[in-house]
Amino acid sequence: MEYRPVIGLEVHLQLKTASKIFCGCSTLFGASPNSQVCPVCLGLPGVLPVLNRQVFLYGVRVALGLQCKIQPTIVFHRKNYFYPDLPKGYQISQYDLPLGTGGHVVVPGTAAAPGTDFKVRIHRVHMEEDAGKLVHRPEEGYSLVDLNRAGVPLLEIVSEPDLESPEQAHEYLKTLKGILEYLEVSDCDMEKGSLRCDANISLSPASADRTAPPTGTKVEIKNLNSFKAVARSLAYEIKRQGRALDAGEKLMQETRLWDDVQGMTQGMRSKEFAHDYRYFPEPDLVPFAVPSEEIDRVGKGLPELPRQRAQRFVDQYKLPTADAVALTSSRSTADYYEACIRLLPKGKEASPCKAVANWLLGDLAREMNERNVDGIEGLKFPPGHLVELVDLIDSGKISGKMAKEVLTEALQSGQSPAAVVQAKGLSQVTDRESIRAAARKVLEEQPQAAADYKQGKGQSLMFLVGQLMRKTKGAANPGLAQEVLRELLENR
Ligand SMILES: [Zn+2]
Repeated sequence: MEYRPVIGLEVHLQLKTASKIFCGCSTLFGASPNSQVCPVCLGLPGVLPVLNRQVFLYGVRVALGLQCKIQPTIVFHRKNYFYPDLPKGYQISQYDLPLGTGGHVVVPGTAAAPGTDFKVRIHRVHMEEDAGKLVHRPEEGYSLVDLNRAGVPLLEIVSEPDLESPEQAHEYLKTLKGILEYLEVSDCDMEKGSLRCDANISLSPASADRTAPPTGTKVEIKNLNSFKAVARSLAYEIKRQGRALDAGEKLMQETRLWDDVQGMTQGMRSKEFAHDYRYFPEPDLVPFAVPSEEIDRVGKGLPELPRQRAQRFVDQYKLPTADAVALTSSRSTADYYEACIRLLPKGKEASPCKAVANWLLGDLAREMNERNVDGIEGLKFPPGHLVELVDLIDSGKISGKMAKEVLTEALQSGQSPAAVVQAKGLSQVTDRESIRAAARKVLEEQPQAAADYKQGKGQSLMFLVGQLMRKTKGAANPGLAQEVLRELLENR
């Protein structure tokens, strides 16, 4: 049978406040175990939590950035469960009155499928505290508890099940992360765990009415350490669930763990229902009304977000939409691009704007990928160097082909492109006489192509230009090479 995957994602975002959500302990990452704790985050009896104002303001910022409505009254609930990393026996979270509801994210179409923007609705955004961390020592036969993380502020961002494929889930996460980076509320680092994601997936018959609530059995996937893992685990579950349904098996509502090495999910426990947690209002934190001026103030302070910035890039720098979207999806790349534009010589920005974009989205993106660096700043190739490289090509000093070599060398040595050109004695042959000499040799060696051109086969010229470029090891200026060859052929 044909199925339609119904996918929703829950993202946990660690907010980069200096102190925890309900006490003054530091949130610094990597401190020695249990050095950043106090009676409040240890959950000792008789203590009183106090909400960190910055957590609330960051929460509002994210909710507004995701187009949510802000709840007029803030209420916290206790979510009761037992686990050794949770000394209180409950987590302070939000339940039926989350901070933000009813938002959405517009995910831009990819280069592979341009013009296919899709909208993912945001069900809710709520504040909660993190739990501690267990450090397992299987050989010694015990586990240790580190409570530095207990009480670190989190925002949970829950999407509606609007995603229909692993690729869509991947694109949504990329877009969401981009927006969160622009909002500057978290370092969004998946490796440090400041951005975490769980996935929910069920299958509906492909023929089922899309507007009706999905009927499939929902499986939650945990232990997803990268966006790639999210996509792979979903692809795995789609296959696994499809096979089971085809065989007439009944699926279980459960939580499954992703094993990235084996590339499979494994059942962990049957999924609990909300009523299992016995939520009740947190009596130590009284509900409070949110002053609307406060919300307005946060709203006015929102930065330009990726979609708006992409539109501005199209208008201001005359870039194609696909380029503008790709450049602005990461804040650091967009900032880098604009830093380059500011360095361009006045009055001749028009074509270099596109050239800078091409380098950023082409060779530099590839280098980032190959070197496994997260952002452009990891490449140690400051904006001034890229502008210099583009200028070297623009002024005819080096060819586009040589520029690629110069880039590789500059990235390796940390030298500026101009310094590389000088050190390696590279420069494009722009001298008409030396190109003419090489061109004459090419015509002698390729009489057939020359004759073809005379008989009206225009494309032979490009072949001859190619031969000339090869002869000069790519050093000739291609425009000039073509001009000289045509001249010689016409006058034969
Ligand atoms: Zn504390």
